[in-house]
Amino acid sequence: MLDGFERNINYLRISVTDRCNFRCVYCMPPQGKKWLEHADILTYEELLRLITVFSGEGVNKIRLTGGEPLVRKGLTEFIAAIKGLGRIRDISLTTNGSLLPPLAAGLKAAGLDRVNISLDTVNPASFARLTTCGRLEDTMKGIESAMAAGLSPVKLNVVLTDALSPRDLAYFVALVYNHPIAVRFIEYMPIGGEGSNRGPDVEKVRRLLSEVGGAKLNPSGTVRGNGPAKYYQFPKAKGAFGFITPISDHFCSACNRLRLTADGKLRPCLLSKEEIDIKTPLRGGASDRELARLFYAAVAAKPEGHTLCRASGFPDFGRSMSQIGG
Ligand code: SAM
Ligand code: SF4
Repeated sequence: MLDGFERNINYLRISVTDRCNFRCVYCMPPQGKKWLEHADILTYEELLRLITVFSGEGVNKIRLTGGEPLVRKGLTEFIAAIKGLGRIRDISLTTNGSLLPPLAAGLKAAGLDRVNISLDTVNPASFARLTTCGRLEDTMKGIESAMAAGLSPVKLNVVLTDALSPRDLAYFVALVYNHPIAVRFIEYMPIGGEGSNRGPDVEKVRRLLSEVGGAKLNPSGTVRGNGPAKYYQFPKAKGAFGFITPISDHFCSACNRLRLTADGKLRPCLLSKEEIDIKTPLRGGASDRELARLFYAAVAAKPEGHTLCRASGFPDFGRSMSQIGG
């Protein structure tokens, strides 16, 4: 469905939980966090109904996120049920990877197409500091299990923080030379937590990668599931680097997504507080037509763009990233 700015809204990012086994400093506030009650979270049956209705309005791509989606029980069966609808052409997952090893093969068999795994640094101490309670080796095992299961292409999400070191860049360069993996650097967004300093800007990272890789990074074609990232490649490398720049060079004019929070709010834009409650009508007996009308309302409410820049500080977005579904 086209919005008022000629953008085709066909992509739904669903947060299946606000809970997480990590507490990344840029994503969650450091102080004690109150999780949503189970009763407030949309059930898988409710989510399937919404996916069915929205797919009738043109949604054909779904990403499951959170919080950490793999902490929610039954996710594999849920993915199989989405696949079983026969209406979604691309199902992907964003995860911190730590719980993936025993699940990866089953997720693939259930119909999961692709996975994005967050890995900001390969220094165990920096990783522990950024994630507060994560262990680097668990995420590394998760990445290996995703590749072994054929969840292709595996993409890594690297938030640009002050933890990014020359050793990290050398690791990522070797990785993309040798594996068909996409390593995507994401600008630190002022939403969620303020527990780390922003890292280098993307121009600097691109220059450092060229120095470490000993070759020029050339703009490259698309990587499956191509979203807002701009991709670059070294000649002869199997993988690619992506740069996601929501702040310095935002991609709002190509934004094709809506978000659904775990507690049933449609969020037209990550960087705007506006939300449309769909859980109350859903639980109150709304017809498919009424639910579709709320989908139209969320599409119509998508702003043309956001106005954040590096100097914006940390505005109030109503929720942390882990509560919205990054
Ligand atoms: N727990 C999963 C994970 O970490 O991949 C999925 C949820 S997490 C909120 C989704 C993505 O948002 C991750 O790649 C994470 O690094 C990114 N993210 C969280 N807070 C961010 C921030 N302040 N700026 C940029 N990216 C952020
Ligand atoms: Fe959890 Fe992902 Fe947020 Fe880290 S980025 S706290 S892993 S939801």
